[in-house]
Amino acid sequence: MSEEIRELDATTVERIAAGEVVERPASVVKELVENSLDADASRIEVEVDGDGTERVAVRDDGVGMTRPDAKVAVRQHTTSKIRDADDLASVATLGFRGEALHTIAAVSKTTVTTRAREGDGPATELRIEGGDVEAVRSAGRAPGTTIEVRDLFYNTPARREFLSAASTEFGHVNRAVSRYALANPDVAVSLAHDGTETFATPGDGDLRGAMLAVYGRDVAEAMIRVDATPDGPLERVSGYVSHPETTRSTREYLATYVNGRYVSDSVLREALVEAYGTQLAADRFPFAVLDVEIPPEAVDANVHPRKMAVRFEDEAGVREGVTEAVHDALLEAGLVRSRAPRG
Ligand code: ADP
Ligand code: MG
Repeated sequence: MSEEIRELDATTVERIAAGEVVERPASVVKELVENSLDADASRIEVEVDGDGTERVAVRDDGVGMTRPDAKVAVRQHTTSKIRDADDLASVATLGFRGEALHTIAAVSKTTVTTRAREGDGPATELRIEGGDVEAVRSAGRAPGTTIEVRDLFYNTPARREFLSAASTEFGHVNRAVSRYALANPDVAVSLAHDGTETFATPGDGDLRGAMLAVYGRDVAEAMIRVDATPDGPLERVSGYVSHPETTRSTREYLATYVNGRYVSDSVLREALVEAYGTQLAADRFPFAVLDVEIPPEAVDANVHPRKMAVRFEDEAGVREGVTEAVHDALLEAGLVRSRAPRG
């Protein structure tokens, strides 16, 4: 077999890279909601049509952008969040890579409508198709930003083929938005699918209200408060876990956070389940919204930005702290028996 080595053109390179950042409609929603949270929004409305490739729209009442800022924001590697590599160590925002908006706009037909909270300029509407800015004009809207993404992957058919049924894709969106809503009870977060509201949190700062909106009354009423300062590396373990009889057959309702940021972490999940001991039926998993506070130097959060994974310096200590905190809460509620001390 003879193979010729060719250099890929810039458009091809860009579209391959885009596929790594934007895997499916839920990735678009994740990036846009993170931007809204970074923009200090107190209200975030997410709308999805069909499997999400038809249309995703995220509207916020955050700081917004001036017209020059909006034009810069959709270019590659532009961010208002860090200046250089030195700032990386202290980044407090969810985003900082400055590639999401550019990448999303490269593989869709995107409209950005934004008005800066500061200053009295009109709103700007920016229409981008396959990465090319097609139109810039003035528009009317309150301060904040709306980003509407239509025809996702219209120019990358291979990526489109890889998507699942609309219900599966929307399931991914729903879980992602739920995690942000539960992590930010002070923000009113709503989600609608094909024009029907899936949930809307009150945004009054009360996590119970957010759980009620996202999980419904039966689950919300079965949630038990956890708030502990265990020995070991964890400064605090707080949130809610469900009654041992309020369970599901998958782990997907175990929402774990490190310093307020969602992470998919088996150490935290296993430690949490371990606390229930034999009270949990085989292959059943509780609901949880649990945050662990840990000094930033004791956790490596940069394992993989897309996979939301972390690595703890003292994994055993973290494990014990979570199990102890959850077990104590369940014990106090009379839902588990006390355990023999660890030997
Ligand atoms: P990053 O979030 O990594 O900075 P993005 O490509 O997601 O990169 O966004 C680029 C820039 O666009 C952001 O740094 C921010 O200045 C601006 N921006 C994006 N979304 C919003 C929004 N909803 N409200 C205000 N500014 C936004
Ligand atoms: Mg971002």
